[in-house]
Amino acid sequence: MNKKGISAILLAFLFTFFLTGCLQSSSGEYKKEFFALNTIIDFTVYGDKRAEKALEKALARVNEIENRMSTTIPESDVSRINQNAGKQPVKVHDDTFFVIKKALEYAKLTDGAFDITIYPIVQLWGITTDHPKVPTWQEIAQRLSLVDYRQVRLNEQEKTVYLTKEGMGIDLGAIAKGYAADEVARIFREAGVKHALINMGGNVVVVGDKPNGTSWRIGIRDPRSEETGEQHFAVLEVQDRAVVSSGDYERYIKDAYEKTGIRYHHIFDPKTGYPARSGLMATTIVSSSSIDADALSTIVFILGADKGLKLVNTLKDVQALAVSTDKQVYTTDGFANRIKISNGEYKLAS
Ligand code: AMP
Ligand code: MG
Repeated sequence: MNKKGISAILLAFLFTFFLTGCLQSSSGEYKKEFFALNTIIDFTVYGDKRAEKALEKALARVNEIENRMSTTIPESDVSRINQNAGKQPVKVHDDTFFVIKKALEYAKLTDGAFDITIYPIVQLWGITTDHPKVPTWQEIAQRLSLVDYRQVRLNEQEKTVYLTKEGMGIDLGAIAKGYAADEVARIFREAGVKHALINMGGNVVVVGDKPNGTSWRIGIRDPRSEETGEQHFAVLEVQDRAVVSSGDYERYIKDAYEKTGIRYHHIFDPKTGYPARSGLMATTIVSSSSIDADALSTIVFILGADKGLKLVNTLKDVQALAVSTDKQVYTTDGFANRIKISNGEYKLAS
């Protein structure tokens, strides 16, 4: 064989080698959509077979967390804690203990504005059920005496949780999704995933940047989309971040709203037992941790723009925006220039 022949074979060999090498490490897009934690959940991962496999693992993990933290699954840790209120401490899984402990830290930080013992009030209003109702103030007053996070006793050694009064109950609805999203991100990262989008209702986590090297563009839900016809009012560009939103638009009593114009929604002020009315329609938190962002999105909504953003300004590496009922967008220090308003009805507050 002449020199030319040899180099042709070598070239062909190299070419095939390169091609198969590429195919083996080829990165595809894999998706999973399912319903859990009372919301539609959407995962998109980019990577190889390991990434695809991680989707199944993540789904199983979300179901596991729901089975431990749901108030409606009778065998869950949370249901057992509630059934044993005033009776005895209940041993729970480490997941549940961790989330309850975190929730109590936020209760302390906010002097009880965030309070997972809100469950008797949540049940009374039934906003998330098929039969919501506006209760009488007497009914509310009665239940409010059962709302007090200081009556949750944790035993760190035994991993038990005890509610000291009969009739008390906890609800992790404001924080469990955040925990689940962090766990999903951890599973993806451990599987070597470099780019992923985790969307769990108002809880988004992005892993890395987009496969093309640009930032993820996360649309922030327009809290009045039914009036404006727009899905989003703003866009945030982020990498490796949790972006969590809360608002009065998610769940509210529709017929009461049509009759009275008042939105009785699902985020309660533990001081009054009524849906929080702090002048806000929506809040969004950006942070590296989704559990913190979840708790804080609910907290800023309850505290209002002034107090809420002041609190977030004291925290490291957390940003927030708050949308008032007159469509002004308030932000934490230095965050305004990161927000691209896409619907002209909304204005950055100066
Ligand atoms: P989020 O959508 O994360 O803002 O959480 C709202 C959910 O948190 C509600 O559906 C209730 O289950 C629960 N919740 C309502 N009010 C409070 C509160 N003041 N503190 C803690 N959890 C609350
Ligand atoms: Mg929340």
